[in-house]
Amino acid sequence: MRISDDRYSRDRQRLDIAMHFIRHEARTHTIRQWTGLTDDRIRKLYRSYLQDGGCRVARHRGKSPQQAAFFMRSARLRHEAGALAGLCCLVGVLARDQGRVGTAGSAATAALAGVGRAAALCQAYDAYRAIVASPGIGFEHAVLLVNALARGSELALGACQGCGALLVVDSLALRPARCALCAVDDPRRGPGCNSARRARPMP
Ligand SMILES: [Zn+2]
Repeated sequence: MRISDDRYSRDRQRLDIAMHFIRHEARTHTIRQWTGLTDDRIRKLYRSYLQDGGCRVARHRGKSPQQAAFFMRSARLRHEAGALAGLCCLVGVLARDQGRVGTAGSAATAALAGVGRAAALCQAYDAYRAIVASPGIGFEHAVLLVNALARGSELALGACQGCGALLVVDSLALRPARCALCAVDDPRRGPGCNSARRARPMP
């Protein structure tokens, strides 16, 4: 009985998380990756959501965003990426020192950690939407941010050289990073986090 109870509650949690992802307009393959549900089950879930009177949400096709440089495009996006990454650290989706949290000892616990991590990501993203008046980072880009920080090859968590605030920085940046406020205090230094990108030759 205990095993079937656990299975039921895990399945229930998967469905709840998938619904949350659907409301955030996540692509089907993103929902599959984070919840382990099949494409067919996700489609049925979407249909039942609409039949139950849910708001129509956009179903995006094609690949998820993959350009980590998106977060370095403007001071506003760098600032929001830092805020979202900080929230992800608070709920345990990311570790402050490296990336991914939740390495598990077996396939079963790894699957559980995946669903738990998906729930935490929703929590962090909802908090981000609540505190930013006009969010520049969509849910699929939030997934990209978390994955890119976990990989660490393009983006990393860093600290502002001036005040120590958590920042998302270019992994290959040559100069120490500075937050928007500290960069304003000392405009000659600039934000730092995209300095290496500026120095690179245009493709
Ligand atoms: Zn600062």
